[in-house]
Amino acid sequence: MVKRVESSDDRVGNGSSSCELRDDVAQQSGGDPRLIDLLGLTRSKLAETLEPVVDRPFRVKQIYRAIHQRGLDSFADMTDLPASLREQLSARFSISLPEVATEHAAADGTVKLLFRLEDGKTIETVDIPDGERRTVCVSSQAGCALACQFCVTGYWGAGRNLTAGEIVAQVRAIERRPRPETHGLNLVFMGMGEPLLNLDHVRDALEILLEDISWRRITVSTVGILPGIEAMASWPRRPQLAISLHAPDDARRSQLMPINRTYPLADLIDVLARFPLAPKEKITFEYILIRDLNDALEDADMLARLLGNLRAKVNLIPINPDSVLGERMVPPSRPAVNAFRDRLRERGMVATIRKQRGDDVSAACGQLRAPDRAPRGFRRSNLNF
Ligand code: SAH
Repeated sequence: MVKRVESSDDRVGNGSSSCELRDDVAQQSGGDPRLIDLLGLTRSKLAETLEPVVDRPFRVKQIYRAIHQRGLDSFADMTDLPASLREQLSARFSISLPEVATEHAAADGTVKLLFRLEDGKTIETVDIPDGERRTVCVSSQAGCALACQFCVTGYWGAGRNLTAGEIVAQVRAIERRPRPETHGLNLVFMGMGEPLLNLDHVRDALEILLEDISWRRITVSTVGILPGIEAMASWPRRPQLAISLHAPDDARRSQLMPINRTYPLADLIDVLARFPLAPKEKITFEYILIRDLNDALEDADMLARLLGNLRAKVNLIPINPDSVLGERMVPPSRPAVNAFRDRLRERGMVATIRKQRGDDVSAACGQLRAPDRAPRGFRRSNLNF
């Protein structure tokens, strides 16, 4: 049986301040708080919201196209609409892209953007050159309540759920950045936060983003929030699924990721075995390698046994060290990483090693932080290795 958790952030003990905007308020995050923001509205929600001023379905289509295909953020520029309608729209609605507060470029071409949201919260989005394409690492929450012991975002503590508009805005902002040599985007929900604890807004954002990016190019990564995975399984259009696994047994996984006590491995594997996959589709398992903690060849054997009956691929990630994580959180040597991969392959698994990107500007996996506030820190007493 899967335990159900109703409220996103409360479960991991982050108190009442963790989700500071109610959903109905959060939808209206435009520049002027009296204006309703349209950027995060799916086609059907847009039609509903515009009803007081737009009564013809083709006008709704025009406005949706202007926002999402033409990339307009001002009604005045929608010159195919009558002037009176443009005025009415401007008086009631907004299309807001958050302000880019800072930008850091790494030597490998990765760019980390820090956005300042309407309420002053900050989030990070990473633009990673990826051959002929670009991969955008998208945040789903401003902070994260889950306190995974290897993750800098978790060290900084919980924030709030992003609105669907704030999620879509990150992608639109990247699309506006000129990079002529590239063709299209891959999206990974691997930035700040846990996407499946912000399920409704993530689902709406995906419904919008999936209109022009193939599901094969979008990956949602989760620590394994089982009700969220079950909900995703029922969506008519789904992105690919990645699971942050990081340990082959409950004892170590619970030390590293407190959420494992709520959703232990056997339940996770059980739910994943029922997750509907397209032909050739696999579930990705992210496995951070930490020296002397989870990098033994016997751990590779356990991992292969655990995942053996699933359509799985394992993505090994030598941990990105960070001063806040403590000195034990270091990657194994390169030969040890390769040996771990080879052992998985000998056991019949598909296994790759993730290339490290943007690490010189703290834009790498698990290094995104919310610098608008003081860190919560970790309780370290239970981490023994
Ligand atoms: N909460 C979701 C989405 C965030 S993804 C999830 O955990 O899946 C963040 C990715 O970066 C995850 O794969 C996470 O495991 C990885 N990560 C976190 N800290 C890291 C670190 N210090 N080094 C390398 N990868 C890390």
